[in-house]
Amino acid sequence: MIVMKFGGSSVANRQQIAKVMEIVQSRLPRRPIVVSSAHKGMTDNLINAAKAAANRQFSLPDVIDFQSEIAQELGCPPEILSGLYQDLSDLLRGIGLVRELSPRSLDHIASFGERMAVRCIADFFTRQGLKSQAYDVWDLGFITDANFGCARPLADYDQRMRQAFAELVPPDVVPIVTGFVGQTEQGDITTVGRNGSDLTATLVGAALGAEEVEIWTDTDGVMTADPSVVPGARNIPLMRFDEAAELAHFGGRVLHPSTLLPAMERGIPVRVLNTNHPGHPGTVIDRQGEAEPQSVTSIAYKENQVVLTISSTGMLQQAGFLAKVFQVLARHDVVVDMISTSEISVSLTSDRLDLVKRAIPDLEEFGECQVRAGKTVLVVVGRNLAQRGGQGAEILKAMAQAGARVDMVSLGMGSINFSMVVDDADIPKAVPILHQVLFEQE
Ligand code: ASP
Ligand code: MG
Repeated sequence: MIVMKFGGSSVANRQQIAKVMEIVQSRLPRRPIVVSSAHKGMTDNLINAAKAAANRQFSLPDVIDFQSEIAQELGCPPEILSGLYQDLSDLLRGIGLVRELSPRSLDHIASFGERMAVRCIADFFTRQGLKSQAYDVWDLGFITDANFGCARPLADYDQRMRQAFAELVPPDVVPIVTGFVGQTEQGDITTVGRNGSDLTATLVGAALGAEEVEIWTDTDGVMTADPSVVPGARNIPLMRFDEAAELAHFGGRVLHPSTLLPAMERGIPVRVLNTNHPGHPGTVIDRQGEAEPQSVTSIAYKENQVVLTISSTGMLQQAGFLAKVFQVLARHDVVVDMISTSEISVSLTSDRLDLVKRAIPDLEEFGECQVRAGKTVLVVVGRNLAQRGGQGAEILKAMAQAGARVDMVSLGMGSINFSMVVDDADIPKAVPILHQVLFEQE
């Protein structure tokens, strides 16, 4: 059995959904479970409608028009969505009345995109001759904690899913399952976070023991850099889980950062494929990756980061200094991405200026603190980077060539990334030159 996840652009309209059907049909002998996102743009529309309702600007017609246009295009009978339209309209009205949008109601509203999409897709497939059935993932045992906006399934969700699946999914039917959403044991609707359908797919795959999870998107697998910034970006055929996770974390736009964990734990290969180019082999992410990697695998970056520097001679020869600094950061919920230290100062990056600022008064007891915003963490991902003679020199030379000042560098022994901090403004020129030096020269 395999899990096939289709993102918003893959199910954007009838033309795309017809492509999806053909792709699913080509996989029938492998018993596919389809996990789908909402139609492209729908989740944003829903969230905007909820915010507007909280400001007494009721915009229900827009979201319903958006969905019903696609439903009509697919030839779906209106009844299949009328119950959900009613619920959505009641909920938006309720939010308008109390003028309050809690994380719980925001998740509830956001969940409609996937729930409406799977019903339309299953109905369309079935009428086209591919017998399918829509499922809300919680009916198949995907029960989560109550962490709205970032929910995770309960520890025993895998057992629940296996049982529900055996009871509810007939063998001759392709299940079309909602990504992104979940439900608590009390029946409150949750979501796993924006762009989270990838994560749903690997969690479902892990629970049901899938042989592979396919993530269908709109690029030829994972690329060496963001193709919209670097025209010469090319496909990466094989990657190891840790390389892909590193890339996803640092803004590789293709995968949600937590996606790979469930697959990694169970050793289930994840294949990233292009709905618009289904013949392309895409990228396989597994435990081995490329047997003998020839070069670095990719470049990724995360903009709008904060650099905090604490300088103090008190660090000299003192045991436990960093431990104390990190205790304070942890108390203020500051998540640290990159760190670089010397005898008298430590610099670290984080993505939340507000939290870093909140921690400053407590950190000042350790030394002078400086905060700089507008920074990008730029990483070169690859294996054994430290062992490659001259690799670091090549990377830094490219940065100099681009005229980008490097504020911080970090490379660990045996680490799979060479990380740098540069100004946000330098990214458009630095990334293409770095790509050229690392990938486009022989
Ligand atoms: N529809 C959700 C979102 O737009 C989840 C996803 O697409 O993966 O965030
Ligand atoms: Mg996505």
